[in-house]
Formats: sequence, structure tokens, C-alpha cells
Amino acid sequence: MKLIQTLAVSSLTFTSVALAQSSWHTVKKPTLEQTKIYGSYANGCFSGGEVIPINGDGFQQVRPSRNRNYGDESLLIFIESLGQYAKMQNKTVILGDLSQPRGGPMNFGHSSHQIGLDVDIWFEAIGKDGLTKQQRENLATPSLVDGKKGVISKHWQPYYRDLIHQAALYPKTERIFVNPVIKAYLCETEKDKSWLYKVRPWFGHDSHFHVRLVCPKGQKDCEPQAPVAKTSGCDADLQNWVKDQTDLALGIKKPTVSKSKPAPKVMPAMCRTILNQ
Ligand SMILES: [Zn+2]
Repeated sequence: MKLIQTLAVSSLTFTSVALAQSSWHTVKKPTLEQTKIYGSYANGCFSGGEVIPINGDGFQQVRPSRNRNYGDESLLIFIESLGQYAKMQNKTVILGDLSQPRGGPMNFGHSSHQIGLDVDIWFEAIGKDGLTKQQRENLATPSLVDGKKGVISKHWQPYYRDLIHQAALYPKTERIFVNPVIKAYLCETEKDKSWLYKVRPWFGHDSHFHVRLVCPKGQKDCEPQAPVAKTSGCDADLQNWVKDQTDLALGIKKPTVSKSKPAPKVMPAMCRTILNQ
């Protein structure tokens, strides 16, 4: 009896692992039902996602050919609201990747962005007319971090602080990832640090920031992260991050891509149904 149970469990694990390695990026469209989220930011999927316009009111997406402009309705509403803010400054919010049509792991680029609640926002101060189709595919954004000195680079603009601030004040924003040098700069320059707890130091993130929203109400299969402590994070730990991520000789460190593949995760069982629909 015990043996049969073990076999059953291991075959279930095997198929779920295969599911995590499936080609989620080859699926072209969301399913049609209401949005339902399964799993966590770095291991999950969703049904019935919203198509986030690649050319919206006050926002645009770069690299639209990647087909990563999908997410939960709450993400669409957040982007629309940030777009309205940018418009008031005569600017256009430039979005990087959101999620694939049904979420899931990507074939390159991110470990999270899997449940339609993550979006990358580029540090770009593009005017209200936005970018042309060709510019959107080819845009290259300079680093805001002078890695050799461990300080903000000459490309920094106050508008970027305003965008991060606006995103952090948004009630459904769970956390924001930026390069530790950017966080340290905000620690030095912000009088009111009450919103900085949401801004977290992370590898890379020197030419874009990453906004993550909370699991929406009623999505009981969406797995939240442990909440961030409500302290500014302007501390010795941050200084260690800065030291670790910058190098006098080499400049800013690129996020290390591990050569050994991480152990495959077991995806929520409903993701199989969603993938096969
Ligand atoms: Zn991201």
C-alpha cells in the first residue's frame, strides 16, 4: 500500500514538473473565462487574463513582439492610473514585460511575472507622443547606476523618483524592486521615508523598476508573499547590498545567471487545465 502511494505521488510530481517546463511562451492567447490566479509570483499561472494594451492612454509597451502584455484586471487598472499620472507630466509610461497570455514560466528573462501581477517599468522620460513602432522594438535604456562609484548616474531624473513614489503610494502595490544604489539614493534624498518600505533593493533593476501588486481580493488560490516589514530599509543591510552589487573596477554587477538549472518547481495542478485549453 505504501509503495503504491509513493508511486502515485512521484508520478504526480513528475507530471507537474513537466508542466513547469512546458512551453507556456508558445501559447498565444488567454483563456476566455473570468480571471483566476493559481500559485505564486514565481510559480503559477492564470486563466482569463486581460490583454493590457501595448499602446494605451499615457502608457506604451516596448518589445511588443514578445507577447508578454497580459495580466490581472488589477494590473491593468494600476497601469492606467500610472499612465494618467505620466500624462499630467506630459510623459508616457514605458512598460517592459508583464506576463504571458496564461502566465507560467518564461523561456527567458524572469523567474517571476507568472501570475499577472508583476510589471517592469523602464526608466525613460518619453514625451506624451510616445515612441514609434520601430523605437519600441529597439529602445535601449542607459543605466541609472554608476557602478564604479556606487552612486546614481548622470542619467537620473527627478521624474523617475516621482514615478517610483507614485507607484509606491498605490494601495495595491505590494513591493517595488530597484537597484540597491537607487534605493540608497532615495534614502538619502527623501525627507518623508514612510513609503520607502515598499521599495526593495534587488539585483539589476538599474534601467527599470519592477512593480508587484497584492493578490486581489477573492483570489483564494493566489499565494501571497510574506509581507514586507514597515520600516524604511535605509540601514546597514542596504549598505551591504550596495557594496555587493557595485565594484570599483568592474562597475555594476549584472544579475548572475546560474549555470546549473534550478530544481524544477511543482506547479499548481489547475495550471495543466489552463495550459491545455
Ligand atoms: Zn520584472
